[in-house]
Amino acid sequence: MQQDLLIIFAAVWLGMALGSFMLFHRGKDVAKKRKLWPVYTIVSNVVIAAVIVYMQPPFTMMLGLLAFMVPLTWLTIRSTRFCDACAHPSRSPFFMKPPSTCSHCKKPLH
Ligand SMILES: [Zn+2]
Repeated sequence: MQQDLLIIFAAVWLGMALGSFMLFHRGKDVAKKRKLWPVYTIVSNVVIAAVIVYMQPPFTMMLGLLAFMVPLTWLTIRSTRFCDACAHPSRSPFFMKPPSTCSHCKKPLH
């Protein structure tokens, strides 16, 4: 029973990873990407949070992990920009300013 649920989590996770690759890396619709990126990031982190809660770690550890995920989710959303010219996603490392030029075509990002 427990394993079944973990397999479902893994399947959801894989499906979302594949969907995000197709949408955010292969897709050309910048407006749609910008709209869906925060939604996708939040949903995928909620899935991770659900797995953490499900694994039932010690309570303080669980709280620490979940508290850590909130700023991480926000930073992931903030540090990713989509290029107007080529629709390519550009990401800066965590805790740094968002990228100012496209990593793909080097045009400035807005
Ligand atoms: Zn570009």
